[in-house]
Amino acid sequence: MSVLTQNATPGVLSLEPYKPGMPLDELQRRLGITDAIKLASNENPLGPSPKVKAALADAIANNDLALYPDGGGIKLKAAVAKMHGIDASRVTLGNGSNDMLEFLGRIYLGPGRASMFSQHAFAVYPIVTQSQSAEAVIVPALPRSHPTMPLGHDLAGFRKAWREDISIVFIANPNNPTGTWLPAEEIEAFLDFVPKHVIVVLDEAYWEYLDPALRGDVRGWLDQYPNLVVTHTFSKTYGLASLRAGYALSSPEVADLMNRVRQPFNNNSLALLAAEVALSDQEHVRKSVALNNSERDRLEPELKKLGLSWLPSQANFLAIDFGRDAAPVHQALLQKGIIVRPTASYEMPNFLRITIGTPAQNDRLLKALTEILAG
Ligand SMILES: *Cc1c(COP(=O)(O)O)cnc(C)c1O
Repeated sequence: MSVLTQNATPGVLSLEPYKPGMPLDELQRRLGITDAIKLASNENPLGPSPKVKAALADAIANNDLALYPDGGGIKLKAAVAKMHGIDASRVTLGNGSNDMLEFLGRIYLGPGRASMFSQHAFAVYPIVTQSQSAEAVIVPALPRSHPTMPLGHDLAGFRKAWREDISIVFIANPNNPTGTWLPAEEIEAFLDFVPKHVIVVLDEAYWEYLDPALRGDVRGWLDQYPNLVVTHTFSKTYGLASLRAGYALSSPEVADLMNRVRQPFNNNSLALLAAEVALSDQEHVRKSVALNNSERDRLEPELKKLGLSWLPSQANFLAIDFGRDAAPVHQALLQKGIIVRPTASYEMPNFLRITIGTPAQNDRLLKALTEILAG
C-alpha cells in the first residue's frame, strides 16, 4: 500500500465502490447480439415523456450550450414547490437524489458520529456514511418469515438500537432492493421518537409507484418535523436516469445548509429543463405507473407457476427468491441477453432484483426463466 493510499481517511479506505450493473452495449458486444434488454436498474421502460424529448431537441437546437445553467434552478424549484404545495425555500435540487444524500452526509456526519439504516437498505447509505469516516448502525431487517413485510425495515428495531451519536437516519420507502414499504402511521410514530436535532431522510425514490392509499401526509410532516428531509428523483418514474436530477423537500433551514455544500452548478441545463417538462406531464406518470402495476399483476402468477416467491413490492421491481444461490441464474440470464441485478452485496444472495419492463420484455424474461429453471 503506497503512502497515498495509507494517507486516505479511514472511512474512504474502508469503502468499496458502488458496483453499477453491466451496461447494455457491453453485454451486446460480448454476446455479439443487438437485442439485449436491461431490467437491472429500475428505469422506466417507457422512457421519459415525449414532451421532454421534444423540449430537449429544441433546447439543443436553439440554446447556447456554452452558458452555465441557472445555478439556483429557479424554474424547476418553483414547479416542484407548486406540485407539492409548499414554499420553494423548502426545495433543494440535486444531481440525482443521491446528491442530496451526499450533502446531508457532509453536513451531519464525520468521525465520532453515526448514521442508522436498515439491513438490505439502499447501497448509497453506507457509502455516504463511510466516506465521512462515520459509523453505520445497521438494524436487522424483519425476518424472511414475517407474515406481511418479509425483509422490510423494522422501525421498532431502530428504536431499540438507538444511540446518542446518531445524527442521520435513512429510511427508504419503498426500499430498494426489497420493494418493501412502511405504513404511514409507523413512520409518523418514528418521527415522534427521534430527537429533534437528528435528521430523518425519507428516501422516496419510488414514491410515484407507492399506492396513494399507503402514502403519508408528507406536507403535514414537513410542517411538523423540521428535521425531516424527503428525497425524490427523476431517475425512476420520470424516465430521466441518464440526466441526473432529483430534489429534496425539507425545512428552509436544512435546505439552506444543503445549498452551502452543493456545487454551484450541480444540475446541468438540460437536466433542469427535462425535469421541469417531465413534472408538467403527469399523464405520462399515470401511464407509466399503470403499466407497471398491470405488468406486476401479470408477472406474479407466472412466477408462482415457476415455483418462485418474491418480496411484496410497491415499486417497479421485484426481489425474486430462488431459494438457493441466485448467481448461476444471473449468469444464465446474461447469456440470454437479459441483465438483472444480483443482490448478494445486499446480503441477499438467493435473490435477484428484476425491474418490471414492457410486456414484450417481461415475456422474454418469463421465457428465459422457464428455460433456465427447467435446467
Ligand atoms: C434509484 C434510487 C435513488 C435515486 O438515485 P438518483 O441519484 O436519483 O438516480 C435513490 N434512492 C433509492 C432507494 C433508489 O433506489
